[in-house]
Amino acid sequence: MFKKEMKFNTKTIHGGQITEKGYGAVMPPIYQTSTYSQSSPGKHQGYEYSRTHNPTRHALESSLASIENGQFGLAFGSGLAAIDAVLKLFKPGDEIISTNDLYGGSYRLFTKIFEKYGLKFHFTDMQNVTNVEALINVKTQMIWVESPTNPMMSIVDIKALSKIAKANEILLAVDNTFATPFLQKPLDLGADIVMHSATKYLAGHSDVVLGALVTDNKKISDQLYFIQNASGAICGPMDSFLALRGIKTLHVRMARHCENAKKIAFFLESHTKIEKVFWPGFKSHPNHEIAKNQMTDFGAMISFTTKGNNYEEAIRVVENLKIFTLAESLGGVESLAGHPASMTHASIPKDQRELSGVVDSLIRLSVGIEDAEDLIEDLKQAIG
Ligand SMILES: *Cc1c(COP(=O)(O)O)cnc(C)c1O
Repeated sequence: MFKKEMKFNTKTIHGGQITEKGYGAVMPPIYQTSTYSQSSPGKHQGYEYSRTHNPTRHALESSLASIENGQFGLAFGSGLAAIDAVLKLFKPGDEIISTNDLYGGSYRLFTKIFEKYGLKFHFTDMQNVTNVEALINVKTQMIWVESPTNPMMSIVDIKALSKIAKANEILLAVDNTFATPFLQKPLDLGADIVMHSATKYLAGHSDVVLGALVTDNKKISDQLYFIQNASGAICGPMDSFLALRGIKTLHVRMARHCENAKKIAFFLESHTKIEKVFWPGFKSHPNHEIAKNQMTDFGAMISFTTKGNNYEEAIRVVENLKIFTLAESLGGVESLAGHPASMTHASIPKDQRELSGVVDSLIRLSVGIEDAEDLIEDLKQAIG
């Protein structure tokens, strides 16, 4: 795309954007239309039918590509619809290697839908990349990565995995929802596909559900555009507009998210009733150095456990929170708290989720952009 040389903050606002031709609207209008007039059969102005193309969605897709340093962006009706499109690149018998502490919805899509169609998934701890290498065979087609992982905030070395993927001629896809391109650019680190639940930080205001894919590979993008149109899991013009508007403030929101999260992480770490805090910014985090290398800051997602690993105690804490809202999701301007074992990760069997650390006392915070002092006071009174 044009203006590739722009810096990140400029890209969030201008990347891939053109001034609207009709009236010079600075913000792309919401083209709430399903179809477009043709002067003669097949003669049109670039748009025929909105499943295939829509100008508002196109503006968003160009923005997505620009901020992730890729050439091709695709927007979908949800993050899971975006992952669904990636999985349709494959055929029965193909194998995919994934992280074991994966977003619960991705795990459900993999095991409950696509296993039925003959794809085979391996789940492993990717903090040690040799675990991944050990699972590769002739049927392996893709490595699916989250970093930081949800909700344990493990860090996976994307560059190291991209070397393994390239050596074995398989694809590397990264779910970049937690980090966003403000903190981490998987394509620059060697990934082939970046995926987002734009529902989270990209849109950023808890008002839209939307998914995204970005790639720099023409062949993959052609296949993905084909799937997007053929399967039809697109997002509407209004949602595209909201996500695009969100992206324009991504950099300022992320900076404040990270600043607040740092204060909260250190507060929790010093609290006598807290057992363990999971946040990649701590020097004691097992992959802190990798996080430092592949991210520009440590993100605003924090998980922690209360002492004694007591289910009731964790429930009491999340119920007592007043500014943090108890809710699924993350990445909005408002702070949210969640209890993964009973909420986001309830679809993963208990023995399996405990293997990756999702114990009953685990609480996950999505730190918002309120005043950090108020957030800390809220946690103080809730923990007691
Ligand atoms: C929310 C989320 C998804 C799924 O996205 P939806 O927009 O809810 O479909 C995938 N991966 C991660 C890491 C998420 O947080």
